[in-house]
Amino acid sequence: MSRVLVIGCGGVANVAIRKCCSESSVFSELMIASRTKEKCDVLAEELRKTSKTKIETAKVDADSKDELVKLISAYKPDLVMNIALPYQDLTIMDACLECKVNYMDTANYEPEDTDDPEWRKIYEKRCKEEGFSAYFDYSWQWAYKKKFEDAGLIALLGSGFDPGVTQAYVAYAKKHEFDTIDTIDILDCNGGDHGYKFATNFNPEVNLREVSAPGSYWEDGHWIEIPAMSIKREYDFDQVGMKDMYLLHHEEIESIAKNLPEVKRIRFFMTFGQSYLDHMRCLEDVGMLSTTPIMFEGKEIVPIKFLKALLPDPASLGPRTHGKTNIGCIFTGKKDGKDKTYYIYNVCDHQECYREVKSQAISYTTGVPAMCGALMLLTGKWNTPGVHTIEEFDPDPFIEALDKYGLPKSESHNPVLVK
Ligand code: NDP
Repeated sequence: MSRVLVIGCGGVANVAIRKCCSESSVFSELMIASRTKEKCDVLAEELRKTSKTKIETAKVDADSKDELVKLISAYKPDLVMNIALPYQDLTIMDACLECKVNYMDTANYEPEDTDDPEWRKIYEKRCKEEGFSAYFDYSWQWAYKKKFEDAGLIALLGSGFDPGVTQAYVAYAKKHEFDTIDTIDILDCNGGDHGYKFATNFNPEVNLREVSAPGSYWEDGHWIEIPAMSIKREYDFDQVGMKDMYLLHHEEIESIAKNLPEVKRIRFFMTFGQSYLDHMRCLEDVGMLSTTPIMFEGKEIVPIKFLKALLPDPASLGPRTHGKTNIGCIFTGKKDGKDKTYYIYNVCDHQECYREVKSQAISYTTGVPAMCGALMLLTGKWNTPGVHTIEEFDPDPFIEALDKYGLPKSESHNPVLVK
């Protein structure tokens, strides 16, 4: 029995909320709070017909700590699930600390305004010292570690698929398959087709910022940064087939490198079709991916926000997306003194997801782990106070929950390695 406050009611939150409401014995009371309350009301009304969970809704601006504190102290949840945007991570963490409530999210902090001089100073210093230039990094949220420890609270960071399940796969490989891991390649393949020439599968602004940033990987204790999309490989994915994939910077590389310092190389690859890349390059070249406001006909607009308004809402892609995703990790390392390789991954079908929860597989593969992460905290399976990423916890109960709630693992002990 628990009370949970979910912040956000977009594509990912929709799946997570539906999954929580299918497990009313744990998620007995739930409040959906977001910027646009009408979306929360529509979902709540639908779910009340089938779920035993007692569902309430509220309007909240999660950029305002005061509004959050008011809502959290009135509702008194056991856990706040932040499934809004990464821009709100810090205000929601602050509010959770003030109200003494556990916290979780699906993506690490990045600022909405990348021209903010205070943030920019710290960011530029980090770029120089650390050697990668993505806007997002863990330092902002790791800085809350002591505060959460002292308060006896948990903040679980990045409980989606990647980050999220990929880190559980790392912990699982370390626990069950290897004495030491030498290399990790995280492969994220979306073989789905939504029929649009260009659309993003999750929040367009966050997605385009991520994939247009320079790529980077971890090797021998430091970052190696490369121009965006300049390392390309082909891989034959189980149940999807041959795809082009590109090396990207990704947040879990940073936490895995910290928590498993033995690993010599960690890379992240994501598949992209040619049409997506051509559109993205063109939009970037004309300045449409910029986060810096410009004046247009007497009004200030942020180009990437304007672009977001033009693109299809990721939540609307469900009925038209066909095909499968395949996301997982390939490891090399040693067991009992012998070299060994191992691949653990999940294959998810867009149309099956749509039939189950009215969503495409990208929101599904993020929303289910968000629900499973919440389940770990609410049932006390993960209970160490502090600020944590998923590879720090016992992976077994989480991977069992993923199996049960729709994201079963597949394994290969003889995978083709990425060159
Ligand atoms: P959406 O844009 O579909 O949904 C975001 C939701 O947050 C909307 O309901 C939006 O409200 C709400 N919101 C935005 N700003 C505020 C605010 N200031 N106050 C209150 N509510 C707000 O995004 P997605 O569902 O696609 O993504 C959700 C999160 O999941 C993102 O952080 C994304 O980075 C992460 N993600 C993680 C992945 C992983 O594998 N770890 C993969 C994919 C996504 P409104 O309806 O008014 O716009």
